[in-house]
Amino acid sequence: GPGLKVISTLSVGFDHLALDEIKKRGIRVGYTPDVLTDATAELSVALLLSACRRLPEAAEQVKSGGWTTWKPLWMCGYGLSDSTVGIIGLGRIGQAVARRLKPFGVRKFLYTGSGPKPESAAEFGAEFVPLTRLAEESDFVLVTCALTPATQGMCNKDFFGRMKKTSVFVNTSRGAVVNQEDLYNALASGQIAAAGLDVTTPEPLPTDHPLLSLKNCVILPHIGSATYATRSTMAVLAANNLLAGLRGEPMPHELKL
Ligand code: NDP
Repeated sequence: GPGLKVISTLSVGFDHLALDEIKKRGIRVGYTPDVLTDATAELSVALLLSACRRLPEAAEQVKSGGWTTWKPLWMCGYGLSDSTVGIIGLGRIGQAVARRLKPFGVRKFLYTGSGPKPESAAEFGAEFVPLTRLAEESDFVLVTCALTPATQGMCNKDFFGRMKKTSVFVNTSRGAVVNQEDLYNALASGQIAAAGLDVTTPEPLPTDHPLLSLKNCVILPHIGSATYATRSTMAVLAANNLLAGLRGEPMPHELKL
C-alpha cells in the first residue's frame, strides 16, 4: 500500500522484494541473516547425503519389497571420501556447509563467486575457480549463492554438460538459479548422477512436474531453516526488526539498500 513504511522478512534472501521500488519510496527492510545459517547448512548436508546415497529411493525399496537378496552393486551411490566439492557462493551458508563436509574426508574444496575471498577460504584451503572449472572438477556441486540477475539461470545446459557423469548437484539457494529443464535433461540422460533440491521454480512444485518422476532427484519443500529453534529465533528477530523500524530506531538486522 501507499502508506507502507517497514518490511520485515522472515528470511535472509530478499530476491522476492521489489528493491528498486522499496529504495525509491524509502521503505526500510529488516531480514534474518546468521540465525538460519547453521540449520540451512545442516539441511544442505542432509540433502547431499540423501541424493548421493539414494536414501529416499532405498527406503522406498524396503516398503515395496524391492529389497531381496544381497547384490554387490545394488543401491550403490557416491561418497564424500577423497572427493572434490565445489561451492557456488562461499557466503555464510556456503562456509557453514564446507565446515560440516570437511570431516567427511573431502580432498579438495573449490568455490566461485564475484571474487576470491581468501579469509573465508583459508579454513578449507578452498581454491577460487571460474564456474566452468568448478563444474568440470567437482564430484559434488552445492549452490549456496544469492539469487541475483547474475546468478539467475546460472546452472544451465552448458554447466550440467561440463559436470561429470558421476557428480551430484545440490541446490539450497533459490530455484531460479537453476534452469530446471536443463537439469531435468541432465538427470534423465545420465549426464549427471543425481540432484538434491530444497528450492524450485515455482514453489510449491506442481505434483505432476517431470522432475518428480526421476528416481535420481530428491526434492524437499524449502525446509532449509525449518528447525523449531531456528524458526523461533527468526520470528523474534523479525518482530524486533519490525518494532525498531516502526519506532524509527536502528533495526537489529536492516538490509542496506
Ligand atoms: P550470503 O550473502 O552470506 O552469501 C551469498 C553468497 O552468494 C556470497 O558469498 C556471494 O559471493 C555469492 N554470490 C553472489 N553473486 C554470485 C555469483 N555471481 N556467483 C556465485 N556466487 C555469487 O548469504 P547466505 O549465505 O546467508 O544465504 C545465501 C542464500 O541462501 C540466500 O540468499 C537465500 O537465497 C538462500 N537461503 C535458502 C534457505 C533455504 O531454506 N533453502 C534458507 C536461507 C537462505 P560474493 O561474496 O563473492 O559475491
